Amino acid sequence: MEGHKSPCAYSGPREACGVFGIYGPGEDVSRLTYFGLFALQHRGQESAGIAVSDGNEITAYREMGLVSQVFNEEALTGLRGDLAIGHTRYSTTGSSSIANAQPMVAEWQGGKIALGHNGNLVNALALRRELEEAGEKFAATSDSEVMLRMVAREADRCGSVEEAVANCMPKWLGAYSLVILTETSVMAVRDRYGVRPLWIGRLNEKATVFASESCALNVIGADLVREMQPGELIVADADGTRPRQVLSSPRSAICVFEYIYMARPDSVIGGKLVHEARKGLGIQLAKDQPVEADVVMPVPDTGWPAAIGYAQQAGLPFGEGLIKNRYIPRTFIQPDQRLREMGVKIKLNPLREMLAGKRIAVVDDTIVRGTTKRAIVKMIRDAGAAEVHVRISAPPYRWPCYYGVDTSNRSELIAARCSTIEEIRRAVGADTLGYQSLQGLLKGIGVSRRKLCLACFTGRYPIPIPPDVRISKLDLEQPA
Ligand code: SF4
Repeated sequence: MEGHKSPCAYSGPREACGVFGIYGPGEDVSRLTYFGLFALQHRGQESAGIAVSDGNEITAYREMGLVSQVFNEEALTGLRGDLAIGHTRYSTTGSSSIANAQPMVAEWQGGKIALGHNGNLVNALALRRELEEAGEKFAATSDSEVMLRMVAREADRCGSVEEAVANCMPKWLGAYSLVILTETSVMAVRDRYGVRPLWIGRLNEKATVFASESCALNVIGADLVREMQPGELIVADADGTRPRQVLSSPRSAICVFEYIYMARPDSVIGGKLVHEARKGLGIQLAKDQPVEADVVMPVPDTGWPAAIGYAQQAGLPFGEGLIKNRYIPRTFIQPDQRLREMGVKIKLNPLREMLAGKRIAVVDDTIVRGTTKRAIVKMIRDAGAAEVHVRISAPPYRWPCYYGVDTSNRSELIAARCSTIEEIRRAVGADTLGYQSLQGLLKGIGVSRRKLCLACFTGRYPIPIPPDVRISKLDLEQPA
């Protein structure tokens, strides 16, 4: 997938964050959290952090950078304890700075609270104003700090962090999968629509583990217990593990982009293996958008499963025609407009022998601004391809996200700017262009429409967006 302001101009809308938590007396919790975060690195590459408690005191360590850059042996050795939470961040609300790195820590009358958040509150500004009017001072600019300070204040009032979290949940409007640490407990919380994923697992039959994606539980050798329910709060402490359904859930609204692009293919979300969902999208796309081609190839990496499904269904050979440099860090210096094409080449290099003289069907997961896709099509043509046919495993991407994915404003989305697919085809320079239909998307993923947020394609947002927040990203007309 391509993006609008990524460092190399062609990674996609970025995931907000990955969260991890463990209540594991006797386990090396900081090291396990480190490995868990490592498995969740794809969900955020700006900063990483771990907060750990030894039962009496919380210690936190967070820095800008990748998990492998932030933590070394010395840092992990300094994080001793029996319970921990971890976080890897990409900013959606609040700037990219150490002040916004997580887990964030606040004090209440009974001690400290650390919090890690994946998602985005749509009423964060209003909540922040209320707190500021009540005299609260903020150190950062993120919605996560608003949540943390609300919990701390409520804990002061009611005398319990668990009750405070439960009391705050109805006030938080938007997407949140949270891990929360006190001196003696780890909690995990999922918003009433379950927009962002969150799993609970067990390690060595005695430790309770939470993670954004099941792949992080697999990596540390934990057994998968289940996905947390929308609206659920689970507390793990010396008394055991207590699930509590705090909010009723009228319907779930799992972000469909988790299946299309964001989650790791080896994760299970909403009961569906992401790799299977992506392959299903490719199969469905081949049925609805066939092409006469000599070879089907993916735009690496996220286009792979859909391209495999497409080739299989179409009965066409599958080939690799673009080789990706896997070592482009988040902090890679952004090429300016003049060097944008070179930026793409730094990340992707064509395999001329695979492409020369052939009719190529290129499968990718979406088109955001169109600039990257144009560069890729040109690159394939320059390598000698006879024809370039672009097939996209998702429908046209027309509406911005308010629930924790960093997407463009509407005016930057090529499918919102162009009135026809033909116009987009011309803009990207392909011989033909075929998108998945909404029905094809649902069939391909195999998850009920009632369980998904599809707002990027339909403009119908399952959680109401306050008008001032909505306007901020709507620089084109409203949906009919
Ligand atoms: Fe996902 Fe789009 Fe919904 Fe945001 S608006 S949660 S990116 S489907």
